[in-house]
Amino acid sequence: MKVKNVKAYGTKAADASLKAMDINRREVTAKDVEIDILYCGVCHSDLHFARNDWGFSVYPVVPGHEIVGKVVKVGEGVTKYKAGDVVAVGCLVDSCRSCNNCKNDLEQYCPEWVGTYGGHDKHLNLPTFGGYSESIVVDEHFVLKVPKNLDLAAIAPVLCAGITTWSPLRHWKVGKGSKVAVVGLGGLGHMAIKLADALGAHVTLFSRSPDKKQDAMDLGADAVVISTDEEQMKSIQNHFDLIIDTVPYAHDINPYVGTLNTNGTLVLVGYLGPLDPILHTVPMIMGRRSVAGSLIGGIAETQELLDFCGKHNIVSEIEVIKIQDINEAYARMLKSDVHYRFVIDMKSLKN
Ligand SMILES: [Zn+2]
Ligand SMILES: [Zn+2]
Repeated sequence: MKVKNVKAYGTKAADASLKAMDINRREVTAKDVEIDILYCGVCHSDLHFARNDWGFSVYPVVPGHEIVGKVVKVGEGVTKYKAGDVVAVGCLVDSCRSCNNCKNDLEQYCPEWVGTYGGHDKHLNLPTFGGYSESIVVDEHFVLKVPKNLDLAAIAPVLCAGITTWSPLRHWKVGKGSKVAVVGLGGLGHMAIKLADALGAHVTLFSRSPDKKQDAMDLGADAVVISTDEEQMKSIQNHFDLIIDTVPYAHDINPYVGTLNTNGTLVLVGYLGPLDPILHTVPMIMGRRSVAGSLIGGIAETQELLDFCGKHNIVSEIEVIKIQDINEAYARMLKSDVHYRFVIDMKSLKN
């Protein structure tokens, strides 16, 4: 298979900084779209994967799965896109296309799904490389249309942070009058607030510090509850239909479960690993409450979200950086010092 040399930014080891490197992309095959990358959002997963925090990174790693760009070339079998179209690619670039999950637009739960980086590229028999690069080649099924009215840099985080919170909002049928709470006000949390608000829900942010109140209200929250304040927590027992917990590390979810109404669900979207402290079943049994998990969203659902964002003029709150600033950006993310997502202007890679 013919390959093409492309500039990228990545790392060759868990303890090394990211720096410029060359990678191979395949030449477009019949169903492929070649995309010149304009912007790429910076997700917490990028950082975890670059540093091998989950133990399954394969090097070199080129992160990035919040990609917005312009189509420069299409294969002869491509029907959805043409050169010049503004498109996006999220966390998935392939799947088996034949299992029940794939048939039901749930590619993210396909046992053979291929991540945009760190997955296995069946064409080249190499790891997949993400969006911290000049260009990417993706099967048209995994390419999304970007609404024309939205800021191209600020829409990038919708591809991961946005869809990760949208999918549970849709699955648990949040709509007008639903009572939704969000735990954690970062990349995911701020999108959860905006999207739940636009769906007509009454939105509450759980926060440990009162200084986040104004920010949350500006994003569309109707209330902020200080989770360390016993009185405030007591006042909202049996209240929420859905809680979206975006916190990316082990934390005590037990106090939140009791704030769910009967049949309510707390869905974890930010943390992979054992709960600590362990989950207490009493509040679950006494109220048929659920604790669940959810992973990004399928391709059709991601397109639905992009269209919804276009209609409601929703984008992420971002800080645009140059690719050369990525190591510093990671250091700031580890201190939660970002409002609310870094997005790389990929023009900087060309310089
Ligand atoms: Zn992500
Ligand atoms: Zn499948």
